Amino acid sequence: MTLHDRVKRLVMVVDDEEVNREILGAILSDEYEVIKAESGKDALELIKENRNVLSVILLDLIMPGLDGFDVINVLKYDETTKEIPIIVLTSEKDAELKSLELGAADFITKPYDMPEVIRARVKRIVELAEHTQIIQSTEKDELTGLFTKSFFFEYSMLMDRFNPRRKMDVVSVNVDNFHLVNELYGHVYGDKVLVTIARVITTFIDDKDGIATRTGADSFYIYLKRQESYTELSDSIKTALENISENIHVRTRIGVYAEDEWDADIEKKCDRARLAGNGLKNDYSESIIYYDRRMREERLYQQRLINDMHDGLERGEFKVYYQPKFDIRGERPVLVSAEALVRWVHPEFGVVSPGDFIPLFEENGLIQEIDLFVWREAARQIREWKDTLGKSISISVNVSRMDIYSEEFVPNITSLLRDFDLTTEDIYLEITESAYAVDQGQLISIIENLRSMGFKIEMDDFGSGYSSLNSLSTLPIDVLKLDMKFVKTIHEDKKSLRLIELIMDIADYLEVPVVAEGVEFEEQYLLLKEAGCAVIQGFYFSKPLPTVEMQKVLLDKV
Ligand code: C2E
Ligand code: CA
Ligand code: CA
Repeated sequence: MTLHDRVKRLVMVVDDEEVNREILGAILSDEYEVIKAESGKDALELIKENRNVLSVILLDLIMPGLDGFDVINVLKYDETTKEIPIIVLTSEKDAELKSLELGAADFITKPYDMPEVIRARVKRIVELAEHTQIIQSTEKDELTGLFTKSFFFEYSMLMDRFNPRRKMDVVSVNVDNFHLVNELYGHVYGDKVLVTIARVITTFIDDKDGIATRTGADSFYIYLKRQESYTELSDSIKTALENISENIHVRTRIGVYAEDEWDADIEKKCDRARLAGNGLKNDYSESIIYYDRRMREERLYQQRLINDMHDGLERGEFKVYYQPKFDIRGERPVLVSAEALVRWVHPEFGVVSPGDFIPLFEENGLIQEIDLFVWREAARQIREWKDTLGKSISISVNVSRMDIYSEEFVPNITSLLRDFDLTTEDIYLEITESAYAVDQGQLISIIENLRSMGFKIEMDDFGSGYSSLNSLSTLPIDVLKLDMKFVKTIHEDKKSLRLIELIMDIADYLEVPVVAEGVEFEEQYLLLKEAGCAVIQGFYFSKPLPTVEMQKVLLDKV
């Protein structure tokens, strides 16, 4: 037994003549529950009440007041009623054509003489509508009613095939920190946000030959005719989100791909639109950003860096620079150590800054090879200086979060000491604060292990955002390295100075010295000295130096 046989469906008969209502009612009432309306106006009211359960409407076209055409018009324009199938009741041939064009599903001619035919037609239309609904439910995202991703891709390819010369855009709409919205305000609210955005998008694309999809939780894509601007879309989303809650600010990022690149298929275009939108992550002044060739070039550049890394390592293009650190607690600043900082002298791009390739290599898992190279080079250099100059200086090396979780990490570090006959006083490890944010348990045990061997651990970029003061007292660290942003404004802004003093107090309590980096001016230096900062690194004393230059500084060391 199918669903169709099991329940008595609701049908509606709309006709201004009572006999017609009665006849149809009689024909259908065995199989259906029938409700009747005698005017267009009554019909609309009844439909509104029953729109979710109404299987079909049998509608007379010619009626006084609101006629059948008007009713069709109203129903087809309303998202909530446009799917209800309508069978037109008519005696005129051309009215029938017109109504089918308007979107009626079928027609029944008056006068009604063959009950079987009428029942068969009604049954067929109901089945058809239910069948398309089932298809639609797989083509469509249940929550928002937008297309599923695969359907969206297929559909947009069809659109291109039939209109190859038409210029189209891809728009990506993304909710900022959607997981936080869900966590903070609950899933019901999260869903409301998504449905609201979907509704605005649906309205926006209505007359623009557009289609839209939702993928992932909070990612929307639109494929549509090229538009002059998307400010209207952005503004409508903003207003709609404000309307569902005044106090909760949910922000969306809109990325637009409006290029005509022959090699880009729809998936690539979506990626690029999204890439553009992601550029807004930290930029709160804008809400729309266009993908442009610059981004593409940026991507290609990054790809080149990734591809060239191994050759670069082999050809000796990576150099280690040293930036001196001075102890400022005494009368005069005294050189105490240096930080090893990598540089890449690329044959084509010249000197590439680590800011360009370190984060990239961290993402791609290449960082470990670079770091190992830097550590070994630093260790070799320390040995060489000891041997040739009779001078000893501790070097801190940067340890990326990716390094720590590698099984070879500890063996690699310890073999450095063995291979170059060094001690843990020679090499310090700088670990960025953000590393401490993830999976503390594992990190702590690895660091404890290193400390038990005697290694000194410096927490780099302290205060850059992740560390919770709570866990600070349980974290194994030997030195706090202040994030540069505090130092930057210390001489202009009371708040930064206050913050630094606060951090000094914490460090005091933890009994660890504080290193300040990024010190560029005398004023900063003096303020830091006054605040009790132990060690300073920065352009004020010295830039990162190539080996020969560093050697000169070292020779001056008393
Ligand atoms: P970081 O570890 O915080 O290193 C300090 C950065 O500040 C260096 O940038 C240094 O050149 C710069 N700096 C030093 N003094 C001043 C100053 O007075 N003013 C200003 N504005 N900047 C100053 P660099 O060398 O470009 O390195 C950037 C980042 O790249 C480093 O930040 C570090 O996170 C990473 N990095 C550098 N070398 C390595 C490495 O060998 N391995 C790993 N994993 N990361 C590295
Ligand atoms: Ca560092
Ligand atoms: Ca730092």
